[in-house]
Amino acid sequence: MSDYFEKVKIELQQMKAPGEAAETEAAGEEQQPSPASDSSVQADVSLTSRRDVSRSSINERSRSKSRSKADGHARQVNSRQVSDLTALRSVAGIYRVSNEQNLQVKGTGKIFKAKSAANGHVESCQRQTEEKCEHRVKEDGNKVGKKRRPVTVDSSKAKTSLEALKLSIRQLKWKEFPIGRRTACDIYWHGVSFHDNENIVSGQVNKFPGMIEMLRKINLSRAVRTMQELFPEEYNFYPRSWILPEEYQLFSTQVRLLKDNDSTLKPTFIVKPDNGSQGDGIYLIRDPADLRVISGSQVKQAVVQEYIQKPLLIDKLKFDIRLYVLVRSLEPLEMYIAKEGLTRFCTEPYQEPSQKNLSHVFMHLTNYSLNVHSGNFVHSDSCNTGSKRTFSSVLYRLGSKGVDIKKVWSDIIALVIKTVIALVPELKVHYQADIPPGKPGPTCFQILGFDILLMKNLKPILLEVNSNPSMRIEHEQEVSPGVFEYVPSVVDEEVKVGVIRDTLRLMDPAQRKQYGVTNLGVGSPEDAIVMDAERDEKEGLADSLPSLCLKQVFPKYTKQFNYLRVVERIATIFLRFLGVKGTMRLGPTGFRTFIRNCKLSNSSFSMASADILYIDITRRCAGTLPDSREAGMGLQAFIEAFFYLAARRFKALPLREQVVSLLEVCESSIDGQGHAEKPRPHRSHTNANPASDHCSAPPTLNSPSVTCRHQSHRRHQPLQPSAKGNTDN
Ligand code: ADP
Repeated sequence: MSDYFEKVKIELQQMKAPGEAAETEAAGEEQQPSPASDSSVQADVSLTSRRDVSRSSINERSRSKSRSKADGHARQVNSRQVSDLTALRSVAGIYRVSNEQNLQVKGTGKIFKAKSAANGHVESCQRQTEEKCEHRVKEDGNKVGKKRRPVTVDSSKAKTSLEALKLSIRQLKWKEFPIGRRTACDIYWHGVSFHDNENIVSGQVNKFPGMIEMLRKINLSRAVRTMQELFPEEYNFYPRSWILPEEYQLFSTQVRLLKDNDSTLKPTFIVKPDNGSQGDGIYLIRDPADLRVISGSQVKQAVVQEYIQKPLLIDKLKFDIRLYVLVRSLEPLEMYIAKEGLTRFCTEPYQEPSQKNLSHVFMHLTNYSLNVHSGNFVHSDSCNTGSKRTFSSVLYRLGSKGVDIKKVWSDIIALVIKTVIALVPELKVHYQADIPPGKPGPTCFQILGFDILLMKNLKPILLEVNSNPSMRIEHEQEVSPGVFEYVPSVVDEEVKVGVIRDTLRLMDPAQRKQYGVTNLGVGSPEDAIVMDAERDEKEGLADSLPSLCLKQVFPKYTKQFNYLRVVERIATIFLRFLGVKGTMRLGPTGFRTFIRNCKLSNSSFSMASADILYIDITRRCAGTLPDSREAGMGLQAFIEAFFYLAARRFKALPLREQVVSLLEVCESSIDGQGHAEKPRPHRSHTNANPASDHCSAPPTLNSPSVTCRHQSHRRHQPLQPSAKGNTDN
C-alpha cells in the first residue's frame, strides 16, 4: 500500500466515527486528502508542493466581479470563500508552510527536497536523483536572470472558458491576446472546435480536428463496440448500446429474447439523442415499443442503452463523476488525468426504475443543467456538501466507510486509458486529413470531460465523453426573486482553473524545445516533473504555483495497455493507403492497392472479390457512418473489411487472434520483410498482457453486442461462403 493510503488509513482510524461525523470533521482539517495520490494503476508519481495559489486566484476573481450588481451579496460570497479556503486547500492537498517543496516520485523511492532560493536555484536534490538534478541546475544557472519571452495565448475564441483561462494565464505570468494577434501565438484556446480559428499554421491548438464528431453518442458507441468485439472483458465498462434507427429491429429482438429467457427480468433502457447534451431529449423506457423513433418527418438518430439500475448512492442520491483528461498528443499517445474532478448529484432520492418513476429526471439524471432547476438543488461553497462537490471529497467519504478507494481510482484510470485508445484510430484519420504531414499546421491537444457512474459494487461505468466540457467557473444564482446573477463557484474554480493552468504548463513550448522534445511528448514523467519544477523556479513562480494537478497515465502505463491498440494498427494501414490528400475515404484503387501490397489476394480471393467486398461494405456503411456525404470507404468500413478478411484467412482462431494475425501478415508485407502467417517477434504494440489473452467471454447485458458486425459478415457470406461462422467467437 502506498504511503498515501497508509496516511488515509491512519487518518480514518483517528476519526471518532466513520460516515457523516467524520466527513464534517475532516472538512475543517488542513490535511484532508485529495485523490492526488489516491491514484495508481501501479507505481505512482505525485508532486507534493507546499505552495498555493487558490487564495490569490479566488481573491483576484472576487475583485474582478465588479460587474456584480449586488455588492453586498458579492461581499457575502467573498467572506464565504475565504472561510472555505482552508477546506479548499486541504481538499487539494496543498497547503503553504514555507517556500519549501517536496517532490515525491512514488514507486521509485525518489524524493526531491527543494527550497527555492532568491536566485531560483534548487538548493538540494536528494537520493538517487541528486546528481542529475544538480547537474541540470548548474547547466541552467547561466540562464537564470535572463527573462524569457512570455508564452503568448490567443484567447479570442475561448468563449465560456475565458474566465478560467484568464486566471490561468495570469497565474503563469504569460501573455494573453484577447482579440487575437496579427502575428502567430504560441497557443490558441478555442471554445468549441479545432476550426474556430481557421488558417493557423503554427503553435498549438487546444482542440483536435474530428473530436466533436468522434464523441457524438453514436460514434463513441461504435468505437467502443469495435473494441468490445476484440476485448469484451476489458471494455465491459460501457453499457450495452444500440444505434438507432439502424439497429431498431435488433434491439427489439434482443430485448424480446432476453425477456423470453427470463420472465423476471425487467430491464430499463435510456434513450439519448445522438447530438444531445445536458440531458436534452433523454428518456427512459422499459419496452422497445416506447421508443420515439420519429420526430416530425425525421427519423431520430440516437443511442438506446442499457440503464444502470443499481448506481452507488450517497445520502440516497444518485451522482456521477466528471473527470478531466488531457490528451496531449496522439503520436506518440500521451494523456493525463486531473487528480481532482467534480461530482454532480441528483436532487430527488433514488429508486430503482419502475413504470411510475421513469419520468422523474431529478431522480435518474445527474446533469447539473437539469438539477439546478429543482427546488432541492443545494449551491454550496464547500467542496463536500451540496449538489456539486469535488471528487476527492466523495472519495474521502467512501474511504471513511471502508471502500478501497485506491482500487476505484485505478479502475477509473484504466477506463479512461481504454476509452482514449478506442478513440485514437479515427482521430488519427481526422488529424491527417486536416493537418497532413509535411504541410505547415499547428499541433493539437485537448481537455476532455469524462462522465463516469459508479455502480453499487463500485465498478466505474462510462456514460459519455465531452469534447467541450464546461469550463465555466461561475454559476447562475437567483440573488433576489427574479434577479439572476453569475456568482463565482468555488468548487468549479478550484477544479477547473487547475486543469487549464496545468494543461498550459504541460504545453509550454519552451519545455519541449529546451529538452529536445518534439511537439509530441516528453521523455518520462519524472523528467516532466523535474522540468516543471525547474522552469517554475526560473520564472519566479515557485512561490505561487501549486504542484501539477495532472497525472500522466500514458505512456506511463504503456505496458499494461498497449496490447489493446489493435485497431490503431489497422488505422495505420488505412492511412498508408489513403495517402496524404486531405481525404478520409479510401477509393477503390486504394483498396485494391492495399489488397495487392499486403498480398491478400490468392486463388480463393481474387481481385474481383476484393472489388465486390469494397462495393458491398462501402455501400452498406454509407448513410450510417460519419461524414458519409464523401464517397469512398471510411475507417469504420475498412475495419469491417479487415475483420472480414481476417475471418476468411484464419478461420479456426477467435476473432481477436484472427485480426492480430492478419495485421502481422499486412505489416510484414508492407515492411517488405516477407512473410506471411508466421507470428512475428513481439512488436511494442502486440499483446503485452498474456493474462488477457482470451476473448470469448459470454456476452452479458453489461457486455458488448457483437451482433452487428457479425450480422454484417453474414451479409457477405454469399460472396465467400467459406467465411461462415468464423467470427462467432
Ligand atoms: P448528456 O450528454 O445529455 O448529458 P449523458 O449520456 O451524460 O447525456 O446522460 C445524461 C445523464 O443520464 C447522465 O449524467 C446520467 O445521470 C444518466 N445516464 C446516462 N446513461 C446512463 C446509463 N446507461 N445508466 C444510468 N444512468 C445513465
